[in-house]
Amino acid sequence: MILVKNVRLFPRTPDAPAVDVEITEGRISRLSPAEDAATESASPTTGPTPTGAEVIDGAGRILLPSLGDVHAHLDSNRMGQTFRPHTADGTLHGYIMNDRENWRAGERSVADQAAFAIARFVASGGTRIRSHAQVDADCGLERFHGVKAALEAHADVLDFQIVAFPQAGIVREQGVEELLDAALADGADLVGGLDPLLYDRDPVSHLDVVFGLADKHGKGIDIHLHEAGTAGLFSLEEIAARTRAAGMAGQVTVSHAFALNTNPEPEVARILDVLAEAGVALTTVAPAKGALPQALIRARRVALGLGEDGQRDYWSPYGDGDLLRRTWQLAFTNGFRADADIEGCLDIASRGGAQVMAGDRPDGSALVDDSRFGLAVGAPADFVLIDADTVTSAIMDCPRDRDVFKAGRLIASGGELAGGPRLS
Ligand SMILES: [Zn+2]
Repeated sequence: MILVKNVRLFPRTPDAPAVDVEITEGRISRLSPAEDAATESASPTTGPTPTGAEVIDGAGRILLPSLGDVHAHLDSNRMGQTFRPHTADGTLHGYIMNDRENWRAGERSVADQAAFAIARFVASGGTRIRSHAQVDADCGLERFHGVKAALEAHADVLDFQIVAFPQAGIVREQGVEELLDAALADGADLVGGLDPLLYDRDPVSHLDVVFGLADKHGKGIDIHLHEAGTAGLFSLEEIAARTRAAGMAGQVTVSHAFALNTNPEPEVARILDVLAEAGVALTTVAPAKGALPQALIRARRVALGLGEDGQRDYWSPYGDGDLLRRTWQLAFTNGFRADADIEGCLDIASRGGAQVMAGDRPDGSALVDDSRFGLAVGAPADFVLIDADTVTSAIMDCPRDRDVFKAGRLIASGGELAGGPRLS
């Protein structure tokens, strides 16, 4: 048994009462008023009690649910490498070719670079990740195997899923379908897709391959959909119709979904009803332009998760591996000021991502009452201890010093993964 003493549970006010959290077999087994709330130790002590229970002094810090990056590209990031000036031309095809021309010049192997990003992410408070791994005629399965090796080396600190992602399209190049098939046979959890109408310019063939491979392997789907306006509506409707026909509710995700920000509100409300009825989930990366209509999405109980997308890569210089900072960006790009709205962004970054990965739909419960992915008794003891006044101030300040727990076990502290970097 582990006892985390004197923490404040997702507080909205600085004077929220402290609690003690009891953890048994990796889950929260009891929440009770703090017995020793007067503790003011800046550097919490840890040790066994006479009864053998491990005691961790929370020192009045905030207990937040751990975070999940459900739209990552671990094979593309260049964090920790010499900064490289941006060279892409601003078109989708140009970005894809710029990555293709340069990724082999990275200073680390794909696996080591992915491991670097994972260590940063976990140290920032992350315990789950869904990463795309590029599969195309240029790289074959090389990048997929690098991402897989890195994630498997961190299986004790992360819940993870890998998307076999056709970054250069499925129809435009020869042999991509066969490569996706091989990646799924080799352990990819989902099959990806990319702008079926505007990039591959053959939505029927593109979606036939994606849904056909998902059916063949019994795997899920996660489609990048940058298509905006009516083109995006068309693709969303096609994806929803195929999801319904295949009985895949909860197993299909659309990432970006810019159509939800570039159409009149009645059209957006209508397509959200269609997605909700089909059981399609969404992810966003909190782009500068294109905030998703979160209130409409939540009202329909459509699962919505947050990701960082690229991290200082061939696509953009943004992204630093810290999903709490990206949670700030989600609030900022929505123009939120009220605490409840900003706390809702943390819910998306934590429970929302877990729901996307599990195929669950939000049930409208408060995060502190959710025994599946929240902070209630019964929930996994996956959380972050952080020194802040309230949830909103934690998001605004992003304090660097965080203690991260997975199944009640301390896995990162002070910005470092316990045990140091893995792989080479
Ligand atoms: Zn992406």
